[in-house]
Amino acid sequence: MAKKERYCSFCGRKESEGILLIEGLEACICTNCTTKANEIVQHIVKEEQNTQLQKVAEFHLEKKPKDIKAFLDQYVIGQEEAKKVLAVAVYNHYKRIDYYAKRKDNEVEIDKSNIILIGETGTGKTLLAKTIAQLIDVPFCIADATVFTQAGYVGEDVESILSRLLQAADYNVAKAERGIVFIDEIDKVARAVDNPSITRDVSGEGVQQALLKLLEGSIVNVPPEGGRKHPEQKFIQVDTKNILFIAGGAFDGIERKIANRLNTSIIGYKKESKKINKENLLEHVSAQDLKTFGLIPELCGRFPVITHLNPLDKDTLKRILLQPKNALLKQYTKLLQLDNISLKFEDEAVDYIVEKAVELKLGARGLRAIIEKIMTDIMFEAETDTNKPIEITLDYVTEKCVQVFV
Ligand code: ADP
Repeated sequence: MAKKERYCSFCGRKESEGILLIEGLEACICTNCTTKANEIVQHIVKEEQNTQLQKVAEFHLEKKPKDIKAFLDQYVIGQEEAKKVLAVAVYNHYKRIDYYAKRKDNEVEIDKSNIILIGETGTGKTLLAKTIAQLIDVPFCIADATVFTQAGYVGEDVESILSRLLQAADYNVAKAERGIVFIDEIDKVARAVDNPSITRDVSGEGVQQALLKLLEGSIVNVPPEGGRKHPEQKFIQVDTKNILFIAGGAFDGIERKIANRLNTSIIGYKKESKKINKENLLEHVSAQDLKTFGLIPELCGRFPVITHLNPLDKDTLKRILLQPKNALLKQYTKLLQLDNISLKFEDEAVDYIVEKAVELKLGARGLRAIIEKIMTDIMFEAETDTNKPIEITLDYVTEKCVQVFV
């Protein structure tokens, strides 16, 4: 008896039609049908991920910008403007995720608004980003712009930013595609404006061009492990259209550029000039100043929201030391409490630390440097369970600071 001809149990095509069949226990499948099945599975997975993301977005939309700011207030002192801008941006980010999950094909597109935070070192840019990360439920990562070089040079490729985001999303691409990326020290990739060198600007403009590709919203080939790309590597494709980018930088010396611009524009508009806050020119920062500083215009265009962080005055520094949920003094008090030692700071001692921090010009980072110097000795000498409280006096702090800051 002639052998029965094999056929695909899904589409019915026969082997004699020139198809390749894979045989199972009691059925066969052709390669055409395996491809189709794979597409269906991918589609179902994507739908499933979309529904999950939508649920997350809906949950977060209950938190209005005011609630987000209230959360930031617990950790970040002052910086009202920046907190407001970020709160609105994060809220809108969730709104867009929700919208795109439900959107019909021909409905209006809502653009995202990447943000650039400008403020002196130690004023809370990274802290703001990290605090946002605690609150939100989308993948979040912080990348340092100084480690990037343009393709072909020693250093990391900018695509490795997305590798980090993928890691934060447990390699769920759909999730990563809705994430938030914080790029620190963006000012360090400004092109050297005052130095018209004809040699290649490895760390400046090239990196900006590469960043632009990510910011523009394109499909990017991402090396899963980060670092440098090499040809044999397998890439994961990530669409950056819906990723929110927040960049931060100190932009040292930008005040001069702002002043120059304002001066030029003030001529003939005397009334306007009264409104200018000369103490904090950063309040008036605009895309124009970022361009003069050395960011390429296309990159500035990709950061439609520009906001600033204020320099920290004595009063704010003192509040930073005492008030936030994880204030430095609260942290050390807790650490010693765990050994049953009570710790107190004399008010004058606190004021002295604040004054020294102002002299250091490192923003709130100076506070940590001083407190750590003081506390290391205290903690080294402290005897546990003695019930003897430790009081940090002005004399003690003065003596320590003299040793440290001569
Ligand atoms: P940068 O602006 O250079 O990114 P950071 O956010 O890293 O500064 O701040 C350095 C440290 O100083 C933080 O860990 C935080 O403890 C403290 N700090 C800075 N600014 C503030 C602030 N506005 N409120 C509370 N703490 C702050």
